[in-house]
Amino acid sequence: MDAPSRPAAPSPRDLPSVDRVLATPTGQEAVEAFGRAPTTSAIRAALDEVRACLLAGKLAALPSADHVAAAAAEALERHARSRLRPVFNLTGTVLHTNLGRALLAEEAVEAATSAMRAAVALEYDLATGKRGERDDHVRGLLIELTGAEDATVVNNNAAAVLLVLNTLGLGREAIVSRGELIEIGGAFRMPDIMARAGVTLVEVGTTNRTHPRDYAGALNDTTGLVLKVHTSNYRIEGFTKEVPARELAGIAHAKGVPLVNDLGSGTLFDLARIGLAHEPTVREAVAEGADIVTFSGDKLLGGPQTGFIVGRADLIAAINRNPMKRALRVDKIRLAALEATLKLYRDPERLAARLPTLRLLARRRAEIAAQAHALAEPFAAALGDAFDIEIVDCSSQIGSGALPLETLPSAGFAIRPAAEASGGRLNALASALRDLPVPIIGRISEGALILDLRCLEDEAGFLASLADIRGPA
Ligand SMILES: *Cc1c(COP(=O)(O)O)cnc(C)c1O
Repeated sequence: MDAPSRPAAPSPRDLPSVDRVLATPTGQEAVEAFGRAPTTSAIRAALDEVRACLLAGKLAALPSADHVAAAAAEALERHARSRLRPVFNLTGTVLHTNLGRALLAEEAVEAATSAMRAAVALEYDLATGKRGERDDHVRGLLIELTGAEDATVVNNNAAAVLLVLNTLGLGREAIVSRGELIEIGGAFRMPDIMARAGVTLVEVGTTNRTHPRDYAGALNDTTGLVLKVHTSNYRIEGFTKEVPARELAGIAHAKGVPLVNDLGSGTLFDLARIGLAHEPTVREAVAEGADIVTFSGDKLLGGPQTGFIVGRADLIAAINRNPMKRALRVDKIRLAALEATLKLYRDPERLAARLPTLRLLARRRAEIAAQAHALAEPFAAALGDAFDIEIVDCSSQIGSGALPLETLPSAGFAIRPAAEASGGRLNALASALRDLPVPIIGRISEGALILDLRCLEDEAGFLASLADIRGPA
């Protein structure tokens, strides 16, 4: 029994009813925005929470119907946010696999959007009115841009490698250097893919040195292919030797065996033009004599997730006849985006300005530092006094296994707790930035939260997003 001298504790029985909360202006707005059923459930959930707090003695007063409506509306808004909503990638890694890799050019976005809205002649030949080929929309462009005889497109490069191995090597052997038995991350490990493709892996050479005679000695009547793999995310340095593709092609061809070159990222553009190290282009790989070259659409190429297989027409025909091809094909949306992306490559002079991946890779430190100086004051104001902000030099990475050791001079912010250093404060800030309507993703390094501004193009959006920050400061 309550002591008679104290006011009675609020009782769950006196909580507003669901209908009363629904009838508040906020409740009505929520119904308008989210629908009656979701709003009613959200109000029930909010009331349940208040009830639990009351019973646990954690609430001194009854919340009003308006309060409950506001809590429900906030939960609805939080729920309505897409889990795939845009984020600011300030990690310093331009092609960040976990953040979706390449940003598409406006031309590609428009093409994909129109293809989504309408029926398109995906496998329909408008000239003859007969059935057409899905690949035809990009085949010609790929042939033009790579110098290969023929080309086809699948879901991603992992699919491309799988399909090529299965087509050329099922029940046969594939020869690979021990220095190139890569793991890309996730579950893409070359020996495992080989096994799933039904191909027997024949390793030759050693981790650091593989010679022409190693390949020559392994070739036999059951060899289906020789595979060369771009060591995308590592380098073997020091006392090393690999067999160049041109020489390897000669060795394979002498026995009538095709050479497959998995370029990984692959590029159709000479990166030296934007001041980076030269990365072998697909055209070069084709010219070196590879019978098949595979590469990705959403790495350096800067397009949608796709995998390309280019090379000898008879081998591409065999690949297209493989029943697995159907399971790995791409849809109209990506094909539309891909066609638009590849078309930009016809004009290399303007490519770096139009293709976001190259545009971001081409940014100079001085330009990024100037941006940091311009943003420092409003940024500091948004974070409040609890944090010190310093403009720092940093090193961006290309990401996705392209030029793994190459770093790009960049600039950004290093944020540290102002008073007594405490890692917890920094983690709370990183978490608050991730919780913004457009989350800001940086990285924590040596007691500071680093925001590399290389990939920040939408400055107004960045500042607008910061206005919503709350919690840590
Ligand atoms: C990235 C990569 C792959 C896989 O490509 P995805 O497009 O991610 O499927 C395969 N091989 C190499 C050498 C790579 O670098």
